[in-house]
Amino acid sequence: MKIVGTVDELRDLLRPARRSERTIGLVPTMGALHEGHLSLIRQAREQCEVVVMSLFVNPAQFEEPADLDAYPRDHARDGELAAGVGVDYLFAPGVEEVYPQGFTSRVSVSGVTEPLEGQHRGTAHFEGVTTVVAKLFNMVQPDVAYFGQKDAQQAVVIRRLALDLDFAVRIEICPTVREPDGLAMSSRNERLSPSDRRRATALHRALRAAAEAIASDERTTGTVIAAAMAELENVELDYFELVNPDTLAPVGERIDGGEVLAVVAARVGATRLIDNQSIQVPSTSDGEQAGSAKQEVLHCSARC
Ligand code: AMP
Repeated sequence: MKIVGTVDELRDLLRPARRSERTIGLVPTMGALHEGHLSLIRQAREQCEVVVMSLFVNPAQFEEPADLDAYPRDHARDGELAAGVGVDYLFAPGVEEVYPQGFTSRVSVSGVTEPLEGQHRGTAHFEGVTTVVAKLFNMVQPDVAYFGQKDAQQAVVIRRLALDLDFAVRIEICPTVREPDGLAMSSRNERLSPSDRRRATALHRALRAAAEAIASDERTTGTVIAAAMAELENVELDYFELVNPDTLAPVGERIDGGEVLAVVAARVGATRLIDNQSIQVPSTSDGEQAGSAKQEVLHCSARC
């Protein structure tokens, strides 16, 4: 694995691969790698001939300077882990390389950036994400870029960005990797005290309660949300919502057939966590379909 700090060097290194039409996969990260990141890299390794992982803690997407300062950084450990799963190029630019003096441009996506995280963290958050991802797409020019379903709204936003601005890149969204007790892996989990770590499982339990209510044929949105809320009493909730997975618009009073996305964000102690779960909703409540939805929930409980 080669560690690369500048765009010029990266372009030089990738030129032969591009000339010989080898597929280039990009996994953007902010480091503090865990199994969630490694699953993205493994998928890239399986599907692409050249794998680039970027490691850049992007100041533009942090709304609070204290949060940026507290973000865990351990480049040496990240380098070892990345090499271990087969990254070819670890692209770790400095802040001046990404945002040189005089930098004033921004890439922004409207609509899907506005609810949920956009509402709670402010629109600057996603503008920071879309600006840096657009830059990474231009710097690396990957054939495929890998993102996690863990950040469900970010995944929707990136798809929109790539489509709207004609980036010649396929966006792959990889499933959320969880701890054995269901907590979605996150670099922020490191900051949880032992008692907060126990409380943090509430997010996953709430998502599962919503999925179980739907699998038990409940179709009133308020009742499904109430089942989830019962699990969230000991955390400081930002939101729990059932939304359309493509538009992120809240589902109406009743849940129709198809797919809904349950999304949750909460503070546990000083740490803000997010999670989500896609729920398949049978279009009718006939026994066979409801039964298969229950199977899916049971399956998920066993896995998660
Ligand atoms: P981050 O370093 O937090 O910016 O995350 C880099 C990428 O890893 C993003 O596309 C995330 O969605 C993805 N990711 C983070 N946590 C997980 C997880 N638990 N499972 C799968 N992907 C994840």
